[in-house]
Amino acid sequence: MGGFRLNQQQKNELPKTIKINWRTYKIIVKDTVSGGDNYLGFVNNNEGFIELRKDGENNSKRISFLHEVVHSILYYAGNKLKRDEDFIEMMANGIYQVMKENPEIVKWIIKENE
Ligand SMILES: [Zn+2]
Repeated sequence: MGGFRLNQQQKNELPKTIKINWRTYKIIVKDTVSGGDNYLGFVNNNEGFIELRKDGENNSKRISFLHEVVHSILYYAGNKLKRDEDFIEMMANGIYQVMKENPEIVKWIIKENE
């Protein structure tokens, strides 16, 4: 038997870290996030980690993850919108929709050598 194993990207698993601004955040998937039972995600910008709740429908889980990322982006921008949950949820949903429906555009945006 060949020892063929899919790499993380081929399996499409959530990676263990994400780089936001200068910092590498740990990604922790768990039953209950630090914010409490009503929360799907949680970010700690001082210590550099994002928690994501294990259960939940896949799309809302991904949007919750983006939600925490947007919190962090605004944190590093020093923008007061970093605490505006409505704004952040709107951005997370909008980014998700555009990325989801335009994978070729996402590839074009991140392509470095042109
Ligand atoms: Zn939030």
